[in-house]
Amino acid sequence: MSTPLLGLSYLGFVRGRPGAFSWQSFNTTTWNHLPEFFHSATAEDVATAGNLAAAAAPVLAALSGAAKAAFLRDIAMRIEAATPALAARAQAETSLPEARCLGEIGRTMGQLRLFADLVEKGQWVDARIETANPDRKPLPKPDHRSMCRALGPVAVFCASNFPFAYSVAGGDTASAFAAGCPVVVMAHHAHPGVADLMGGLIVEAVRAAGLPEGTFSMLQGDGREVGQLLAKHPAIRAIGFTGSRTGGRALMDTAAAREVPIPVYAEMSSINPVVLLEGALAARGEAIATGLGATCTLGVGQFCTQPGLLLLVRSAAAEAFAGHLAAQFRAAPEGVMLTPPIQQAYVKGLTARSGRGGIQTYAPGKGTGKPGRALPTLLAVAAKTFLSDKSLQAELFGPCSLIVWCDDAAQLHKVLGALEGNLTATLHGTDEELAANAPLIERLATLAGRVVVNGFPTGVEVSHAIVHGGPYPSLSDGRTTSVGSNAIYRFARLVCYQNFPDAALPVELRAANPLGILRMVNGEMVK
Ligand code: NAP
Repeated sequence: MSTPLLGLSYLGFVRGRPGAFSWQSFNTTTWNHLPEFFHSATAEDVATAGNLAAAAAPVLAALSGAAKAAFLRDIAMRIEAATPALAARAQAETSLPEARCLGEIGRTMGQLRLFADLVEKGQWVDARIETANPDRKPLPKPDHRSMCRALGPVAVFCASNFPFAYSVAGGDTASAFAAGCPVVVMAHHAHPGVADLMGGLIVEAVRAAGLPEGTFSMLQGDGREVGQLLAKHPAIRAIGFTGSRTGGRALMDTAAAREVPIPVYAEMSSINPVVLLEGALAARGEAIATGLGATCTLGVGQFCTQPGLLLLVRSAAAEAFAGHLAAQFRAAPEGVMLTPPIQQAYVKGLTARSGRGGIQTYAPGKGTGKPGRALPTLLAVAAKTFLSDKSLQAELFGPCSLIVWCDDAAQLHKVLGALEGNLTATLHGTDEELAANAPLIERLATLAGRVVVNGFPTGVEVSHAIVHGGPYPSLSDGRTTSVGSNAIYRFARLVCYQNFPDAALPVELRAANPLGILRMVNGEMVK
């Protein structure tokens, strides 16, 4: 791909103007700026992007599932063709290794194709029909037909830790397009070159599909300025976000304060508790320590599903397990973090935590002392201390996990009861322990959107059944998921058509069921 990086926003088919400030992306591995300059969008550009999206919204909402599927597949195809250039730029801008970049590009294409299949089949609209009964007494019953329709323009805020799968053409964008919504992306300032390349591919796909130019726009710049203007634009109907709790909360507050408030689907922070029961540790403690150590330090711990909290009830098996786990952390290499501010936040948080009274630091490995690096570190604290200090629950983004030592099962339940919402909760136990601990499993299910048994939570499968979202603060709205095909419902709303002539109904609701989809007709599921 030979497209030069102009460093400007995309306002539909037109490039934006250079706004108030310019910056260069930074390579944390080489500790150097990359040569290209990027330019923040102007306030006028934000307004233009919103207005274009508003104009495109009715056209996209009326698109057939087949047309949306073709569009999504075309984006995936363009990404496939541009993979080498995308991966190379992502490596330079994020310091993520090549294999991770390639894997994430594959996942991004997979997400687009998953949504293409979903909307092509058409089932997702949840069509329901209650036929009329004119003879009903005392009042005739009307004909009611309902289905999901597009919500309208969606603002997507890109994540720093997933330059593809949660960025310009990531899950939020794919699910919004699939629902029939135009998208305005707020690119992440740390990988603006990847955003520039990816934005260009989507614009080409919009053109090729003959869709209105407002189908897609992408703004460069500072989220706190440009992003806030975008969140306030009256055309925007929902926001998708992945990042810090501060950023997510700021957008939730902005969305709530608008003249017309809008939903924000913000994935903010999660410490992903792992409960390790004595029987499992006695039977296979060393193997669990090996797997857990690898998953806690994977990708320099920069995953929303990194297990940051490990809960143990004191026993000889648990002590031995902690020793094995500490050895895994010590043996794990230091890694380059995504950005200098993320690395600085990790070091600051770790220093504060390990310097606090009552925290044991298992000796970390030896680092090179080069800038931008993070050392995997295992900490431990008594449950009583943990319960007395809410700051120990805060996500420490990076390769650090905290063991909480509980005196007994009752204290373990107390710790779990004090936790905030999480994306995942994991339990390791023998078959007998799992059978005997139904209340514990139930508690984990109230705590998290995904409960893992005898496994590790870090990998997130993109599928129809995955749930990547849990109670606040892991997601701002714990009823939804930001990964998998169910993510489409964030950007749809139910519309009921009353007493419509058949020909005026959306095809999904017509009597002949031309799409052959499964529908609920008078309470029964039928084709
Ligand atoms: P972030 O600071 O929350 O930024 C994410 C995006 O939101 C950026 O585009 C950012 O723009 C924008 N933003 C931030 N504050 C905003 C505001 N007040 N109004 C509007 N937009 C705003 O996250 P980050 O840069 O990716 O990383 C910072 C920290 O977030 C990490 O150290 C980590 O603690 C946490 N994080 C967590 C996860 C997770 O999966 N749990 C993932 C990524 C990051 P600007 O920065 O350009 O203003």
